[in-house]
Amino acid sequence: MSKEELECSFCGRSKSETNLLIAGLDAHICDRCIEQAYGIVLEDTKTSDTGVTSDDLKLRKPQDIKAFLDTYIIGQEHTKKVMSVAVYNHYKRLLQPQSDDDIEIQKSNILMVGQTGTGKTLIAKTVAKMLNVPLAIVDATVLTEAGYVGEDVESILTRLLQAADYNLEKAQTGIVFIDEIDKIARKSDNPSITRDVSGEGVQQALLKLLEGTVVNVPPKGGRKHPDQKFIEVNTENILFIAGGAFDGIERVIRKRLNMQAVGFSAAKSNDDVLDRENLLKYIIPKDVKDFGMIPEIIGRLPVLTHMNPLDKGTLRAILTEPKNAIIKQYEKLFAMDDISFSITDGALDYIVEKAIEYKLGARGLRSLCEAILTDAMFELPGSDEKELKITKSYAESKLNNSGLQKQLKAVI
Ligand code: ADP
Repeated sequence: MSKEELECSFCGRSKSETNLLIAGLDAHICDRCIEQAYGIVLEDTKTSDTGVTSDDLKLRKPQDIKAFLDTYIIGQEHTKKVMSVAVYNHYKRLLQPQSDDDIEIQKSNILMVGQTGTGKTLIAKTVAKMLNVPLAIVDATVLTEAGYVGEDVESILTRLLQAADYNLEKAQTGIVFIDEIDKIARKSDNPSITRDVSGEGVQQALLKLLEGTVVNVPPKGGRKHPDQKFIEVNTENILFIAGGAFDGIERVIRKRLNMQAVGFSAAKSNDDVLDRENLLKYIIPKDVKDFGMIPEIIGRLPVLTHMNPLDKGTLRAILTEPKNAIIKQYEKLFAMDDISFSITDGALDYIVEKAIEYKLGARGLRSLCEAILTDAMFELPGSDEKELKITKSYAESKLNNSGLQKQLKAVI
Protein backbone atom coordinates (compact mmCIF):
# COMPACT_ATOMS: atom_id res chain seq x y z
CA MET A 1 0.00 0.00 0.00
CA SER A 2 1.51 3.37 -0.93
CA LYS A 3 1.59 6.19 1.64
CA GLU A 4 -1.12 8.22 -0.16
CA GLU A 5 -3.64 5.39 0.08
CA LEU A 6 -3.51 4.96 3.88
CA GLU A 7 -6.93 5.00 5.44
CA CYS A 8 -8.64 4.34 8.77
CA SER A 9 -9.50 0.66 9.07
CA PHE A 10 -12.59 1.54 11.13
CA CYS A 11 -14.35 4.34 9.19
CA GLY A 12 -12.54 4.20 5.88
CA ARG A 13 -11.52 7.89 5.89
CA SER A 14 -8.34 8.51 3.97
CA LYS A 15 -5.33 9.95 5.79
CA SER A 16 -5.92 13.43 4.35
CA GLU A 17 -9.43 13.50 5.84
CA THR A 18 -8.14 12.86 9.37
CA ASN A 19 -6.08 14.89 11.82
CA LEU A 20 -4.17 11.85 12.93
CA LEU A 21 -3.87 8.31 11.74
CA ILE A 22 -2.21 5.81 14.04
CA ALA A 23 -0.72 2.64 12.65
CA GLY A 24 -1.16 -0.74 14.30
CA LEU A 25 0.19 -4.11 13.22
CA ASP A 26 -1.83 -4.35 10.02
CA ALA A 27 -4.49 -1.70 10.56
CA HIS A 28 -4.87 2.05 11.12
CA ILE A 29 -7.15 4.12 13.32
CA CYS A 30 -8.03 7.81 12.99
CA ASP A 31 -8.49 10.42 15.74
CA ARG A 32 -12.28 10.41 15.41
CA CYS A 33 -12.54 6.66 15.83
CA ILE A 34 -10.22 6.83 18.84
CA GLU A 35 -12.51 9.39 20.46
CA GLN A 36 -15.57 7.32 19.73
CA ALA A 37 -13.97 4.16 21.06
CA TYR A 38 -12.87 6.01 24.19
CA GLY A 39 -16.47 7.13 24.73
CA ILE A 40 -17.55 3.50 24.59
CA VAL A 41 -14.89 2.55 27.14
CA LEU A 42 -16.02 5.33 29.50
CA GLU A 43 -19.66 4.38 29.15
CA ASP A 44 -18.81 0.80 29.90
CA THR A 45 -16.83 1.53 33.06
CA LYS A 46 -19.60 3.88 34.23
CA THR A 47 -22.28 1.22 34.05
CA SER A 48 -20.17 -1.34 35.82
CA ASP A 49 -19.38 1.24 38.56
CA THR A 50 -22.99 1.86 39.42
CA GLY A 51 -23.97 -1.76 39.38
CA VAL A 52 -21.65 -2.83 42.17
CA THR A 53 -22.90 -5.74 44.20
CA SER A 54 -21.16 -7.88 46.73
CA ASP A 55 -20.21 -10.11 43.82
CA ASP A 56 -18.19 -7.57 41.94
CA LEU A 57 -17.06 -5.31 44.75
CA LYS A 58 -13.40 -4.89 43.96
CA LEU A 59 -11.33 -5.22 47.04
CA ARG A 60 -7.89 -3.71 47.17
CA LYS A 61 -5.11 -4.92 49.41
CA PRO A 62 -4.58 -3.05 52.72
CA GLN A 63 -1.51 -1.21 51.41
CA ASP A 64 -3.45 0.02 48.40
CA ILE A 65 -6.34 1.10 50.61
CA LYS A 66 -3.89 3.06 52.75
CA ALA A 67 -2.30 4.61 49.66
CA PHE A 68 -5.77 5.76 48.53
CA LEU A 69 -6.49 7.23 51.98
CA ASP A 70 -3.11 9.01 51.86
CA THR A 71 -4.20 11.03 48.86
CA TYR A 72 -7.11 12.54 50.78
CA ILE A 73 -6.10 12.46 54.44
CA ILE A 74 -3.05 14.13 55.89
CA GLY A 75 -1.29 12.46 58.82
CA GLN A 76 -3.28 10.07 61.06
CA GLU A 77 -0.94 7.32 59.94
CA HIS A 78 -1.91 4.90 62.67
CA THR A 79 -5.65 5.19 62.04
CA LYS A 80 -5.23 4.92 58.27
CA LYS A 81 -3.28 1.70 58.73
CA VAL A 82 -5.73 0.22 61.22
CA MET A 83 -8.67 1.24 59.01
CA SER A 84 -7.09 -0.29 55.91
CA VAL A 85 -6.73 -3.63 57.64
CA ALA A 86 -10.20 -3.52 59.21
CA VAL A 87 -11.89 -2.56 55.96
CA TYR A 88 -9.95 -5.20 54.07
CA ASN A 89 -10.88 -7.91 56.55
CA HIS A 90 -14.50 -6.85 56.64
CA TYR A 91 -14.98 -7.03 52.89
CA LYS A 92 -12.83 -10.13 52.58
CA ARG A 93 -15.17 -11.73 55.08
CA LEU A 94 -18.23 -10.92 53.06
CA LEU A 95 -16.73 -11.87 49.72
CA GLN A 96 -15.62 -15.22 51.11
CA PRO A 97 -17.69 -18.17 50.02
CA GLN A 98 -19.39 -20.12 52.82
CA SER A 99 -17.00 -22.71 54.20
CA ASP A 100 -17.74 -25.66 56.43
CA ASP A 101 -14.77 -25.38 58.75
CA ASP A 102 -16.82 -23.66 61.48
CA ILE A 103 -14.47 -20.71 61.56
CA GLU A 104 -16.60 -17.65 61.45
CA ILE A 105 -14.79 -14.39 60.83
CA GLN A 106 -16.30 -11.78 63.10
CA LYS A 107 -17.22 -8.31 62.01
CA SER A 108 -14.54 -5.69 62.32
CA ASN A 109 -16.61 -2.65 63.22
CA ILE A 110 -14.47 0.30 64.14
CA LEU A 111 -14.41 2.91 66.91
CA MET A 112 -12.45 6.09 66.22
CA VAL A 113 -11.71 8.36 69.13
CA GLY A 114 -10.46 11.87 68.46
CA GLN A 115 -11.26 15.56 68.74
CA THR A 116 -13.77 17.03 66.38
CA GLY A 117 -12.42 18.17 63.03
CA THR A 118 -9.52 15.73 62.95
CA GLY A 119 -10.82 13.79 59.96
CA LYS A 120 -12.98 10.97 61.33
CA THR A 121 -15.87 11.60 58.95
CA LEU A 122 -13.45 12.25 56.12
CA ILE A 123 -11.85 8.82 56.59
CA ALA A 124 -15.24 7.07 56.57
CA LYS A 125 -16.26 9.03 53.47
CA THR A 126 -13.02 8.24 51.69
CA VAL A 127 -13.26 4.53 52.41
CA ALA A 128 -16.83 4.45 51.07
CA LYS A 129 -15.76 6.38 47.98
CA MET A 130 -12.90 4.00 47.30
CA LEU A 131 -15.04 0.90 47.61
CA ASN A 132 -17.96 2.55 45.84
CA VAL A 133 -20.37 1.45 48.56
CA PRO A 134 -23.19 3.57 49.98
CA LEU A 135 -22.46 5.54 53.13
CA ALA A 136 -24.87 6.83 55.75
CA ILE A 137 -23.63 9.40 58.23
CA VAL A 138 -25.79 9.57 61.33
CA ASP A 139 -25.58 11.49 64.54
CA ALA A 140 -25.94 9.40 67.67
CA THR A 141 -27.32 12.37 69.60
CA VAL A 142 -30.67 12.26 67.78
CA LEU A 143 -31.22 8.61 68.59
CA THR A 144 -33.48 7.57 71.44
CA GLU A 145 -34.94 4.35 72.66
CA ALA A 146 -38.02 3.22 70.75
CA GLY A 147 -41.09 4.96 72.02
CA TYR A 148 -39.38 8.18 73.07
CA VAL A 149 -39.15 11.50 71.26
CA GLY A 150 -36.32 11.35 68.77
CA GLU A 151 -35.33 8.80 66.18
CA ASP A 152 -35.32 5.03 66.57
CA VAL A 153 -32.03 3.35 65.80
CA GLU A 154 -33.66 1.78 62.73
CA SER A 155 -33.60 5.24 61.15
CA ILE A 156 -29.88 4.65 60.62
CA LEU A 157 -30.76 1.96 58.11
CA THR A 158 -33.35 4.15 56.43
CA ARG A 159 -30.53 6.58 55.71
CA LEU A 160 -28.38 3.79 54.32
CA LEU A 161 -31.21 2.61 52.07
CA GLN A 162 -31.63 6.16 50.80
CA ALA A 163 -27.88 6.44 50.18
CA ALA A 164 -28.10 3.22 48.16
CA ASP A 165 -31.06 4.52 46.12
CA TYR A 166 -33.12 1.77 47.76
CA ASN A 167 -30.93 -0.94 46.26
CA LEU A 168 -31.17 -3.43 49.12
CA GLU A 169 -28.17 -5.48 48.14
CA LYS A 170 -25.95 -2.43 47.94
CA ALA A 171 -27.27 -1.12 51.25
CA GLN A 172 -26.52 -4.41 52.94
CA THR A 173 -22.83 -4.09 52.07
CA GLY A 174 -22.62 -0.40 52.83
CA ILE A 175 -20.97 1.62 55.56
CA VAL A 176 -22.66 3.43 58.43
CA PHE A 177 -20.74 6.17 60.18
CA ILE A 178 -22.19 6.93 63.61
CA ASP A 179 -20.88 10.27 64.74
CA GLU A 180 -20.79 11.47 68.36
CA ILE A 181 -21.14 7.98 69.74
CA ASP A 182 -19.64 9.31 73.00
CA LYS A 183 -22.78 11.36 73.56
CA ILE A 184 -24.72 8.20 74.31
CA ALA A 185 -22.33 7.20 77.06
CA ARG A 186 -23.97 6.57 80.38
CA LYS A 187 -24.28 9.89 82.13
CA SER A 188 -23.62 8.65 85.63
CA ASP A 189 -21.66 5.83 87.16
CA ASN A 190 -24.79 4.43 88.70
CA PRO A 191 -26.91 3.06 85.85
CA SER A 192 -30.03 2.73 87.95
CA ILE A 193 -30.48 6.29 89.20
CA THR A 194 -32.81 7.51 86.49
CA ARG A 195 -34.23 6.19 83.27
CA ASP A 196 -31.59 7.03 80.70
CA VAL A 197 -33.47 7.15 77.40
CA SER A 198 -30.79 8.75 75.30
CA GLY A 199 -27.81 6.97 76.78
CA GLU A 200 -27.62 3.39 77.83
CA GLY A 201 -31.00 2.56 76.27
CA VAL A 202 -29.72 3.62 72.86
CA GLN A 203 -26.53 1.68 73.35
CA GLN A 204 -28.63 -1.40 74.03
CA ALA A 205 -30.71 -0.77 70.92
CA LEU A 206 -27.59 -0.37 68.81
CA LEU A 207 -26.11 -3.67 69.94
CA LYS A 208 -28.07 -5.95 67.65
CA LEU A 209 -27.56 -3.68 64.69
CA LEU A 210 -23.80 -3.68 65.15
CA GLU A 211 -23.63 -7.40 65.59
CA GLY A 212 -25.71 -8.38 62.61
CA THR A 213 -29.42 -8.94 62.55
CA VAL A 214 -32.44 -8.57 60.31
CA VAL A 215 -34.27 -5.32 60.98
CA ASN A 216 -37.62 -4.10 59.71
CA VAL A 217 -36.82 -0.71 58.33
CA PRO A 218 -39.38 1.94 57.40
CA PRO A 219 -38.10 3.01 53.96
CA LYS A 220 -39.19 6.62 54.42
CA GLY A 221 -38.09 6.72 58.04
CA GLY A 222 -39.76 8.28 61.03
CA ARG A 223 -43.09 7.47 62.52
CA LYS A 224 -44.95 9.95 60.36
CA HIS A 225 -45.80 7.36 57.74
CA PRO A 226 -47.51 4.63 59.72
CA ASP A 227 -48.79 2.84 56.61
CA GLN A 228 -45.48 2.35 54.86
CA LYS A 229 -44.32 -1.19 54.20
CA PHE A 230 -41.17 -2.25 55.98
CA ILE A 231 -38.06 -3.41 54.17
CA GLU A 232 -36.08 -6.20 55.80
CA VAL A 233 -32.46 -5.19 56.06
CA ASN A 234 -29.77 -7.62 57.15
CA THR A 235 -26.98 -5.76 58.94
CA GLU A 236 -24.56 -8.67 58.97
CA ASN A 237 -22.36 -7.29 56.20
CA ILE A 238 -22.76 -3.61 56.97
CA LEU A 239 -19.58 -2.04 58.27
CA PHE A 240 -20.20 0.24 61.23
CA ILE A 241 -17.70 2.94 61.99
CA ALA A 242 -18.35 4.92 65.14
CA GLY A 243 -16.60 8.15 66.00
CA GLY A 244 -16.54 10.46 68.94
CA ALA A 245 -14.49 13.11 70.70
CA PHE A 246 -14.85 11.46 74.12
CA ASP A 247 -14.08 14.75 75.84
CA GLY A 248 -12.30 14.09 79.10
CA ILE A 249 -11.24 10.54 78.30
CA GLU A 250 -7.64 11.68 78.70
CA ARG A 251 -8.33 11.89 82.42
CA VAL A 252 -9.37 8.25 82.43
CA ILE A 253 -6.27 7.27 80.47
CA ARG A 254 -3.96 9.32 82.70
CA LYS A 255 -5.44 7.77 85.81
CA ARG A 256 -4.96 4.27 84.45
CA LEU A 257 -1.40 4.96 83.32
CA ASN A 258 -0.47 6.45 86.69
CA MET A 259 -2.00 3.52 88.48
CA GLN A 260 -0.05 1.13 86.32
CA ALA A 261 3.14 3.00 87.10
CA VAL A 262 2.46 2.65 90.81
CA GLY A 263 1.45 -0.96 90.39
CA PHE A 264 4.71 -1.81 88.73
CA SER A 265 6.53 0.35 91.29
CA ALA A 266 8.38 1.77 88.34
CA ALA A 267 11.68 3.18 89.39
CA LYS A 268 11.63 5.59 86.52
CA SER A 269 8.72 7.96 86.11
CA ASN A 270 6.44 7.31 83.17
CA ASP A 271 6.88 10.92 82.10
CA ASP A 272 10.08 10.07 80.30
CA VAL A 273 8.36 7.89 77.77
CA LEU A 274 4.76 9.08 77.78
CA ASP A 275 3.58 11.59 75.23
CA ARG A 276 1.64 13.78 77.67
CA GLU A 277 0.39 16.02 74.88
CA ASN A 278 -1.41 13.17 73.18
CA LEU A 279 -2.57 10.64 75.72
CA LEU A 280 -5.20 9.38 73.31
CA LYS A 281 -2.63 7.20 71.64
CA TYR A 282 -2.56 5.00 74.74
CA ILE A 283 -6.30 4.37 74.66
CA ILE A 284 -7.54 0.85 75.35
CA PRO A 285 -11.11 -0.52 75.39
CA LYS A 286 -11.23 -0.34 79.21
CA ASP A 287 -10.91 3.46 79.03
CA VAL A 288 -13.93 3.62 76.75
CA LYS A 289 -15.83 1.49 79.22
CA ASP A 290 -14.81 3.66 82.14
CA PHE A 291 -16.01 6.64 80.11
CA GLY A 292 -19.53 5.20 80.12
CA MET A 293 -19.93 2.92 77.12
CA ILE A 294 -21.37 -0.46 77.98
CA PRO A 295 -18.96 -3.39 77.54
CA GLU A 296 -21.21 -5.09 74.97
CA ILE A 297 -21.00 -2.07 72.65
CA ILE A 298 -17.23 -1.99 73.00
CA GLY A 299 -17.14 -5.68 72.18
CA ARG A 300 -19.04 -5.03 68.97
CA LEU A 301 -16.69 -2.25 67.94
CA PRO A 302 -13.55 -4.37 68.28
CA VAL A 303 -11.21 -2.16 66.26
CA LEU A 304 -10.30 0.81 68.45
CA THR A 305 -8.21 3.62 67.06
CA HIS A 306 -7.42 7.25 67.84
CA MET A 307 -7.01 10.45 65.87
CA ASN A 308 -4.11 12.79 66.59
CA PRO A 309 -4.76 16.48 67.20
CA LEU A 310 -3.91 18.58 64.15
CA ASP A 311 -0.74 20.61 64.56
CA LYS A 312 0.41 23.59 62.50
CA GLY A 313 2.21 21.49 59.91
CA THR A 314 -0.79 19.24 59.38
CA LEU A 315 -3.20 22.15 59.01
CA ARG A 316 -0.86 23.78 56.52
CA ALA A 317 -0.68 20.56 54.52
CA ILE A 318 -4.48 20.13 54.62
CA LEU A 319 -4.82 23.47 52.85
CA THR A 320 -2.81 22.45 49.81
CA GLU A 321 -1.93 18.76 49.65
CA PRO A 322 -4.96 16.43 49.63
CA LYS A 323 -6.42 15.52 46.28
CA ASN A 324 -9.32 17.89 46.81
CA ALA A 325 -7.48 20.37 49.02
CA ILE A 326 -9.30 23.62 49.76
CA ILE A 327 -6.80 25.73 47.83
CA LYS A 328 -7.03 23.42 44.80
CA GLN A 329 -10.79 23.91 44.88
CA TYR A 330 -10.46 27.70 44.75
CA GLU A 331 -7.93 27.40 41.92
CA LYS A 332 -10.46 25.40 39.97
CA LEU A 333 -13.32 27.78 40.75
CA PHE A 334 -11.33 30.79 39.54
CA ALA A 335 -9.99 28.92 36.53
CA MET A 336 -13.56 28.42 35.36
CA ASP A 337 -13.64 32.20 34.92
CA ASP A 338 -10.18 32.20 33.32
CA ILE A 339 -8.69 33.77 36.42
CA SER A 340 -5.34 32.48 37.55
CA PHE A 341 -5.35 32.15 41.32
CA SER A 342 -2.29 31.98 43.51
CA ILE A 343 -1.58 32.34 47.20
CA THR A 344 1.73 33.04 48.91
CA ASP A 345 3.27 30.92 51.66
CA GLY A 346 2.92 33.89 54.00
CA ALA A 347 -0.83 34.00 53.41
CA LEU A 348 -1.18 30.24 53.94
CA ASP A 349 0.76 30.45 57.22
CA TYR A 350 -1.46 33.34 58.29
CA ILE A 351 -4.62 31.29 57.67
CA VAL A 352 -3.20 28.41 59.70
CA GLU A 353 -2.25 30.76 62.54
CA LYS A 354 -5.77 32.15 62.66
CA ALA A 355 -7.31 28.67 62.62
CA ILE A 356 -5.16 27.76 65.62
CA GLU A 357 -5.71 31.07 67.39
CA TYR A 358 -9.47 30.72 67.17
CA LYS A 359 -9.33 26.99 67.90
CA LEU A 360 -11.15 26.27 64.65
CA GLY A 361 -9.15 23.23 63.60
CA ALA A 362 -9.33 21.97 60.04
CA ARG A 363 -12.97 22.84 59.74
CA GLY A 364 -12.13 26.50 60.25
CA LEU A 365 -9.70 26.61 57.33
CA ARG A 366 -12.58 26.71 54.91
CA SER A 367 -14.48 29.47 56.74
CA LEU A 368 -11.31 31.55 56.90
CA CYS A 369 -10.67 31.08 53.16
CA GLU A 370 -14.26 32.00 52.39
CA ALA A 371 -14.02 35.17 54.47
CA ILE A 372 -10.82 36.15 52.68
CA LEU A 373 -11.96 35.32 49.16
CA THR A 374 -15.64 36.28 49.10
CA ASP A 375 -14.98 39.80 47.78
CA ALA A 376 -12.76 38.49 44.98
CA MET A 377 -15.23 35.75 44.09
CA PHE A 378 -17.94 38.40 43.88
CA GLU A 379 -16.01 41.03 41.95
CA LEU A 380 -13.63 39.26 39.58
CA PRO A 381 -15.92 37.11 37.40
CA GLY A 382 -16.97 39.28 34.49
CA SER A 383 -14.28 41.91 35.16
CA ASP A 384 -11.08 42.39 33.15
CA GLU A 385 -8.93 41.14 35.99
CA LYS A 386 -7.44 37.77 35.05
CA GLU A 387 -5.08 37.26 37.95
CA LEU A 388 -5.56 37.02 41.69
CA LYS A 389 -2.64 36.72 44.05
CA ILE A 390 -3.40 36.40 47.74
CA THR A 391 -0.67 37.78 49.96
CA LYS A 392 -0.59 37.86 53.74
CA SER A 393 -1.54 41.55 53.84
CA TYR A 394 -4.45 40.96 51.45
CA ALA A 395 -5.66 38.08 53.64
CA GLU A 396 -5.23 40.16 56.78
CA SER A 397 -7.19 43.14 55.47
CA LYS A 398 -10.04 40.98 54.13
CA LEU A 399 -10.31 39.01 57.34
CA ASN A 400 -10.21 42.14 59.49
CA ASN A 401 -13.11 43.58 57.54
CA SER A 402 -15.12 40.41 57.49
CA GLY A 403 -17.86 39.53 59.89
CA LEU A 404 -16.09 36.29 60.73
CA GLN A 405 -13.26 37.98 62.61
CA LYS A 406 -15.73 39.95 64.73
CA GLN A 407 -17.85 36.92 65.45
CA LEU A 408 -14.85 34.87 66.48
CA LYS A 409 -13.54 37.60 68.76
CA ALA A 410 -16.92 37.73 70.44
CA VAL A 411 -16.92 33.98 71.04
CA ILE A 412 -13.42 33.72 72.48
P1 ADP B 1 -14.47 14.89 62.40
O1 ADP B 1 -15.39 13.90 61.79
O2 ADP B 1 -13.29 14.26 63.09
O3 ADP B 1 -15.14 15.90 63.29
P2 ADP B 1 -14.12 15.81 59.70
O4 ADP B 1 -13.72 14.56 59.03
O5 ADP B 1 -15.54 16.25 59.53
O6 ADP B 1 -13.79 15.74 61.25
O7 ADP B 1 -13.16 16.97 59.25
C1 ADP B 1 -13.59 18.25 58.91
C2 ADP B 1 -12.88 18.76 57.69
O8 ADP B 1 -11.52 19.01 58.02
C3 ADP B 1 -12.83 17.76 56.56
O9 ADP B 1 -13.83 17.96 55.62
C4 ADP B 1 -11.49 18.01 55.91
O10 ADP B 1 -11.60 19.02 54.93
C5 ADP B 1 -10.64 18.57 57.00
N1 ADP B 1 -9.72 17.59 57.59
C6 ADP B 1 -9.71 17.19 58.90
N2 ADP B 1 -8.71 16.36 59.14
C7 ADP B 1 -8.07 16.17 57.97
C8 ADP B 1 -6.93 15.41 57.58
N3 ADP B 1 -6.25 14.66 58.45
N4 ADP B 1 -6.55 15.47 56.29
C9 ADP B 1 -7.20 16.25 55.40
N5 ADP B 1 -8.27 16.99 55.70
C10 ADP B 1 -8.70 16.98 56.98
